[in-house]
Amino acid sequence: MTDGPVGRLAAAWRRLAERTRPVHPETERALAERWAVLPEHVRTPAQSLGRHAVGCEGTHGVFPKCNLTCTPCYHSADANKVRVDGAHTVREVGAQMAYARERRGPYAHAQLIGGEVSLLAPDDHAEALLTMRRHGRSPMSMTHGDFDPEYLRALVTGDDGRLRLDRVSFAAHFDSLMRGRRGAVRPRSEAELHPFRQRFVQMFRDLRAETGLRSYLAHNMTVTPANLDQVAETVRAVLPMGYSMMSFQPAAHVGDDRRWKESYTAVDVDAVWAQLEAGLGRTVPYQAVEFGDPRCNRLGFGFLAHGAWHPFVDPGSEAELRARDAFFAHFGGIAFSNTPPVLLAVKVLRVLRSHPGDVGVALGWARSLLRRVGGLRALAGAARGKQLGLMTFEVHSFMDAEHVGPAWDMMRRGVVAEDPQLRATQERLAACTYSMAHPETGELVPACAQHSVLDIGENAELRKLLPLTVV
Ligand code: SF4
Repeated sequence: MTDGPVGRLAAAWRRLAERTRPVHPETERALAERWAVLPEHVRTPAQSLGRHAVGCEGTHGVFPKCNLTCTPCYHSADANKVRVDGAHTVREVGAQMAYARERRGPYAHAQLIGGEVSLLAPDDHAEALLTMRRHGRSPMSMTHGDFDPEYLRALVTGDDGRLRLDRVSFAAHFDSLMRGRRGAVRPRSEAELHPFRQRFVQMFRDLRAETGLRSYLAHNMTVTPANLDQVAETVRAVLPMGYSMMSFQPAAHVGDDRRWKESYTAVDVDAVWAQLEAGLGRTVPYQAVEFGDPRCNRLGFGFLAHGAWHPFVDPGSEAELRARDAFFAHFGGIAFSNTPPVLLAVKVLRVLRSHPGDVGVALGWARSLLRRVGGLRALAGAARGKQLGLMTFEVHSFMDAEHVGPAWDMMRRGVVAEDPQLRATQERLAACTYSMAHPETGELVPACAQHSVLDIGENAELRKLLPLTVV
């Protein structure tokens, strides 16, 4: 290879080819590794894990304390005895995300989660998010939503008043099982919280109007027998508020057992989904796209147009399923949400150059979808009237600690459980979509195992390292 103009041109061409490569080689490797160890029963045509998604990540042991009291609470009894310490948070987040980057490749969604994220000073919170981004993570802050607009402003703007974070992502947890929210200390119903749910979105809208801040907001809700029958009404109320996702977690027996107020076994994914569909007044198909084990996650990917929800893929349509298959086979692993538009377009064109037939498949999908939503004019009208937006529904069913503990222990020893309950737990842990990085042991630990097993010892140690009262 010469150093002259030809050599330089060749090197520039190679760099361009690498940069526009549709899927990063490390993502390809991470996807293949995930797929290879997935249990057989989840390797369905609908499975996105290991074909498009490497899985989500979450932080642990970075700020366990929370200032609300929920029933139930997934945190161990020691969590509230650990001081919130920004330097510790940023250091640990950096180490965990570096390890996640090494194992899962250069792009993934990751949750900045602990106790309550807004107990971090705004500068520390911002630095933690920027650290996650530096490791290629697309961060989402998990909050109870009880903070003021001033906190949000201080988080996203620097000393010069300019945005240091131009886009943020928050999951806000609102449900009537939470105690201590300012203005709704002991809510008697979900409806009592609707003004707080709306106010949370409004904070972001106001700041967007002023600074241009972009945001993605998810609404989280724990569901127990106490509030199950209010889910439908909550869905109807939250739908027009401006969230882009509604996630429901049927309660599990995990965390601080002093906060378990009732048996949670009566509420399962089907019960919550039935409420969701009652709230929407339509079915919410979930069969076309799976994420890990269906006993853990059920998802309805779709969008709102003029207030009505529509799925992206209708499992009853051949044309739409063909498009899904082509997407997973040829476009899986492309970082759609974190790539500049021009670069993304080039990546997509490179895929289409190898698979030109996908253009026809995509048109078939678009025709079928437009038929369902009332035609192009209806969709364009919704877009013009700002009545078009993403809306994903999710039910994430954590597992009980009494099953996770022994199942996880056996897995680490390479033992396959014979007991059907523990075997099922192991299958789900093997297909986990939400894990936490442990660089010190070289493990990626499912969140169920983190909360059921590891949090207890971790928080006991943190209590000594970061006592509430510094002597
Ligand atoms: S955290 Fe638990 S419930 Fe969630 S995907 Fe992992 S194993 Fe399943």
